[in-house]
Amino acid sequence: MRIILLGGPGVGKGTQAQRLSKEYDLPHISTGDIFRQAIKDGTEMGLKAKSYMDKGLLVPDDVVVGIVEERLAKPDVKEGFILDGFPRTVPQAEALDEITAKLEMPLDYVVNINAPAEVIIKRLSGRRSCRSCQEVYHIEYSPTKKPGICDRCGGQLYQRDDDKEETIRKRIQVYEEQTAPLIDYYNKSGKLVEVPGDKPIEEVYSRICDILS
Ligand code: ADP
Ligand code: AMP
Repeated sequence: MRIILLGGPGVGKGTQAQRLSKEYDLPHISTGDIFRQAIKDGTEMGLKAKSYMDKGLLVPDDVVVGIVEERLAKPDVKEGFILDGFPRTVPQAEALDEITAKLEMPLDYVVNINAPAEVIIKRLSGRRSCRSCQEVYHIEYSPTKKPGICDRCGGQLYQRDDDKEETIRKRIQVYEEQTAPLIDYYNKSGKLVEVPGDKPIEEVYSRICDILS
């Protein structure tokens, strides 16, 4: 199964992708996680990406498309994949169409998760991520058993630099301008399914599973 999780920042793409990845045994490909790992590793690409991410802007299409193309050429995507945070612009979606056509791996579903801006702001301001395994938590909605410590691997939790209120607002604006047009793009292809994201994590998850089965 080949799925895209579409939606604004903080709607729950990563949270749902992590669960789906375990349930369906499919690789979870998050371009945001790839960039954060590159920043941690101090690579040139990471340094370049950071200058955009810190401002709440999108990393240029050619950089992101190159990374995804390389990732989708790996053997573990043969049975499918869950794309989270890619594509984010129409040119990225067009490039993905070319890549999947070349690999003869057509998309099955584009799941659009939506939630109002005030919900997104509350979620992103309380988001905490694990420095080691990138698992996502929320101080109120999805807390860890021990404060500040990842349940999964025991790593330290941190707050992302781009989860400051000012940057969150910029990211929502960038989403509206550059990513929201993808709803129409995928609607035309007949692959779009809408899922309300303003519900508890379990409810959103079971709605997505219903669609996929
Ligand atoms: P995205 O990947 O779309 O940016 P995340 O999955 O990282 O969003 O979720 C953002 C924050 O909101 C995280 O702290 C996560 O724990 C929390 N969260 C995700 N989905 C829900 C939900 N349905 N209800 C409440 N909190 C949620
Ligand atoms: P995310 O982890 O999905 O919230 O992404 C964090 C940041 O990484 C975004 O705000 C962008 O700066 C960058 N990023 C992630 N995916 C993409 C993409 N597909 N296109 C451009 N920038 C991206």
